Amino acid sequence: MSDGTVAEGLARVQDRILRAASAASRDPASVRLVAVSKTKPASAVREAYDAGQRDFGENYAQELVQKAEELADLVDLRWHFIGHLQTNKARFVARVAHMVHTIDGPALVRELGKRAAKDGRGDVLERLPVLVEVNVGGEPQKHGATAAALGSVLAAVEAEPALVLRGLMTMPPNDLEAARRAFEALSSLRTLHGGPARLPELSMGMSDDLEIAVAAGATLVRVGTAIFGSR
Ligand SMILES: *Cc1c(COP(=O)(O)O)cnc(C)c1O
Repeated sequence: MSDGTVAEGLARVQDRILRAASAASRDPASVRLVAVSKTKPASAVREAYDAGQRDFGENYAQELVQKAEELADLVDLRWHFIGHLQTNKARFVARVAHMVHTIDGPALVRELGKRAAKDGRGDVLERLPVLVEVNVGGEPQKHGATAAALGSVLAAVEAEPALVLRGLMTMPPNDLEAARRAFEALSSLRTLHGGPARLPELSMGMSDDLEIAVAAGATLVRVGTAIFGSR
């Protein structure tokens, strides 16, 4: 739950990131906050934008497209797609997203690569940055590539001229200790697959666990409830 205005929620979260970064001896500027606005109205996004926030996360293709239209006047706002992406929605997302966090297999890589080249920004030089989602715990109910399949998914992304590989993302378990292990596992997978030179971004950490994600090396934290209130 977040009390008060969106601007107050945002300030509290920024302060948490600052403290977590300093506790981990990290530069706070190395952690980017993605404000997760799913199910919240465009007016709430605008409120956060007016308070200085520029990166926003959405989970559903249709909701993303609608909000992007409503907020088209905010030209430097960056949309992150963080939900499960079906191949038949890839073209909508390729048009508006600044980054897609949830690449989970070769079929989606091919479709998004095709759409980013074709209906994307119209220019292959402006490639679409993507992260590969990893199901680090191998939990059957979760999306994401398994650790075993990760190498081939990364290679598939790099084979698509209209996509650019930027890193890894994971959805943690609810339990904080299990989340810490999942974040550390994602960081180890990065080391195993080329380190920060190949995979500069680690997208992990949400309202309840952003501190442990920052301690484990998160460069993108995706925070909804703590900014916009409960959904
Ligand atoms: C909803 C969501 C978040 C934000 O979760 P909160 O607990 O509200 O901060 C982050 N990442 C993903 C993938 C989500 O779906």
